[in-house]
Amino acid sequence: MTDQPTPMMAQYLAIREANPGSLLFYRMGDFYEMFFQDALAASAALDIALTKRGTHLGEPIPMCGVPVHAAESYLLTLIRKGFRVAIAEQMEDPAEARKRGAKSVVARDVVRLVTPGTLTEESLLEARRHNFLASFANVRDDCALAWVDISTGEFRVMPCPAPRLAPELARHAPRELLAVERSGLDEIAAEAGSALTELPPGSFDSGAATRRLCALFHVETLEGFGNFGRAELAAMGAIVDYLELTQKGRMPLLRPPVREASGGAMQIDAATRRNLELTQALSGGREGSLLAAIDRTMTAGGARLLERRISAPSRELDLIHARQSAVAHLGSDPRLTADLREALSRSPDMDRALSRLALDRGGPRDLAAIRSGLTQGAAIATMLAEDAPAVLAEAARDLTGHDEIVDLLDDALIAEPPLLARDGGFVAAGYDADLDETRRLRDEGRGVIARMQADYIAETGVTSLKIKHNNVLGYFIETTSTHSERMLAPPLNARFIHRQTTANQIRFTTVELSELETRILNARDRALEIEREIFARLCRAVLEAAGRIGQAARALAEIDLTGGFADLASGEGWVRPHVDASRAFLIEGGRHPVVERALKRKGEAFVANDCALTAGETPAIWLLTGPNMAGKSTFLRQNALIAILAQAGAFVPARKAHIGMVSQLFSRVGAADDLARGRSTFMVEMVETAAILNQADDHALVILDEIGRGTATWDGLSIAWAVMEHLHASNRCRALFATHYHEMTSLSARLPGVENATVAVREWEGEVIFLHEVRKGAADRSYGVQVARLAGLPPSVVERAKEILHQLESGEREGAGKPAALLDDLPLFRAAPPPPPRPAKAQASEVEARLKDVNPDAITAREALDLVYELRGMM
Ligand code: ADP
Repeated sequence: MTDQPTPMMAQYLAIREANPGSLLFYRMGDFYEMFFQDALAASAALDIALTKRGTHLGEPIPMCGVPVHAAESYLLTLIRKGFRVAIAEQMEDPAEARKRGAKSVVARDVVRLVTPGTLTEESLLEARRHNFLASFANVRDDCALAWVDISTGEFRVMPCPAPRLAPELARHAPRELLAVERSGLDEIAAEAGSALTELPPGSFDSGAATRRLCALFHVETLEGFGNFGRAELAAMGAIVDYLELTQKGRMPLLRPPVREASGGAMQIDAATRRNLELTQALSGGREGSLLAAIDRTMTAGGARLLERRISAPSRELDLIHARQSAVAHLGSDPRLTADLREALSRSPDMDRALSRLALDRGGPRDLAAIRSGLTQGAAIATMLAEDAPAVLAEAARDLTGHDEIVDLLDDALIAEPPLLARDGGFVAAGYDADLDETRRLRDEGRGVIARMQADYIAETGVTSLKIKHNNVLGYFIETTSTHSERMLAPPLNARFIHRQTTANQIRFTTVELSELETRILNARDRALEIEREIFARLCRAVLEAAGRIGQAARALAEIDLTGGFADLASGEGWVRPHVDASRAFLIEGGRHPVVERALKRKGEAFVANDCALTAGETPAIWLLTGPNMAGKSTFLRQNALIAILAQAGAFVPARKAHIGMVSQLFSRVGAADDLARGRSTFMVEMVETAAILNQADDHALVILDEIGRGTATWDGLSIAWAVMEHLHASNRCRALFATHYHEMTSLSARLPGVENATVAVREWEGEVIFLHEVRKGAADRSYGVQVARLAGLPPSVVERAKEILHQLESGEREGAGKPAALLDDLPLFRAAPPPPPRPAKAQASEVEARLKDVNPDAITAREALDLVYELRGMM
């Protein structure tokens, strides 16, 4: 069978083969087309029609396509669904190809690979979140992690021993992780929500990496940036290699790599982040997270910085104090803060504009973003006094000295330029004499056309005659067909050359009109060309200043974040915590920012609570008991969140706070449902608990909520007990331990530094009332049965539960042995008893009915007395 592929199909197959692992978007005119397997996968993923085009090896070729102008939204869907997309564009005008011969195919090539970690389009990115691409290298067991946000240019690296990979990935939540081998990384990547991309070992070669990095940053040696180990070099080199591969040589604007010291940030692992709902609520969205509750930033850059700070609270005291002083400064001057925030609200996202310009995907509007960002920045700098705290003064310095580039952009650009450079119209009049002249010619042409139209009307006597323009004919003269006889007959037909007849119109041209058209077109093309040259020049100027512009963008984000924290503190009554190197943890009147916000919306008040853990000679552990729903989890979490906020440089939701530096934060909740990962819930709980016991140092803060809940009572109690002893004896850290095992409260008598606390409830007429007050001491009992009733369990079940509880409790007091034995003595469970006859209720209704008939104003005292006797008789 001779089923030779067509030349186009042959080209397609060659490009396809050169780009394995991605869908191929193959440009054909106004569409990106997909064929074969790609078409099947994409039509299903995008829910678009699958068609056929021609045959290959005797089989019809499946095909589907998306219009180029709407391609971004389809790309977004594909990327979200885990695909990668190679975009093959037409590299020449189809006319060029035709010149080569009838069978020639338009040259096409892949210009870009779109992957989750390498997005730059505004519509594909979340403005207020980072989009990190990470890479993990292992050079003879020396491991490192590098990460980059190509939409902002941020480039970081750190040594990362394998066990630290999971928590570090959890912190950055990169969209994509590069590694030599998937094995062992699949689960970790999935947990962080990262797509895993395997690269050949050559990408991770540390020697090649050094060369790539030196070339990228135009330096002879990388020593100026830091003293990097082999693994760090390998990780960074793989990122650069991958960017070259996906961006097809156009490198994004990366800042020189910064080494992050692993001791610089509070360590928070993935489970803790999840439990505390730092940046994402357990339900998945941002709403309900700490981030959503405290985000008062005005700019996307500020919001991204906030997410970074919350994800990695600092451990450097000086830095924390400096940031706090800045917040305090703005907090003490609400007028200044309001003015700053107002100016910030008008500052665009310079970081992302810069990165689009660097990748040649930018437009005039990105230049305008730089202009207005720097202009607002200069205004903001003048608002900040010289003697402002260092964080602000430094930011102000970074915002000044950009006049040259601002003036250039101001002169060159109109006030509100279009998105794309393609159609011109963005260069301001008066900037370039040549352009002004060509534009005048072009526009004059338009005036001439108007005059020409008037002349032709006079000449032909056809008052409805018009000169119009479309893309097929260019300029033409149009009359309605009612005038056809006149126009097509002498003498007019000598001047008016017929071009086209449509249903209602006839179209003509003249020699003069064609000439004029050429002049106009030439002027238009020339004007466009000049504008494009100017655009390229402006881009170069901006990119040359990119380092300083990036600094200005960071300065704006820092001021924005500080202002947001100040606004939050004054609006919500938060205080500046005292942070030092001790192991204190003293909170007065602490609150949970997210729960408080939710309660406020319902018009309810949050009950503030104290927490006093000071580890010194002995560790400090609170054992918290109290019924379900009392507020134990809320109390535990609020203290963890206060530590995070304090070390992020923010003020905290409390009346007073003294926090000794927290090195690591751990939070675990017993038996969280984790079926998605296919592990038994209890197994997960134990694995996570093991991680804490193996890692927590004496500056850690550990929060354990109902550990041991996931197994049988006695097992659970024993495990909880042993965990507590280990924390006390080995980890010697600060901890809050909530449990419903009342038996554990006796530990406080045996272990110095362990104290009992309880969330108070009051019982009133058989109902529990939650006071949400944390007090010293142990809960008297668990009130589980009462809580169950509140939850709407059928009364018969509640009654039966009370009976069983009574039996168990009295059995325990009398030492009668195991619960099973006790339960054997219980009378069998009765199904819900039949509803009792309700005479009393019926009688009440009769009484009510009788009373309703009475008009108290209309009866005498005597009649009233008789009525009382009558009613009494009815009962
Ligand atoms: P537990 O862990 O003891 O079962 P939670 O911490 O889940 O209880 O709290 C149950 C509910 O009680 C919360 O959803 C919240 O609405 C409310 N609550 C908790 N703590 C407080 C508080 N300090 N002030 C007011 N309401 C609270």
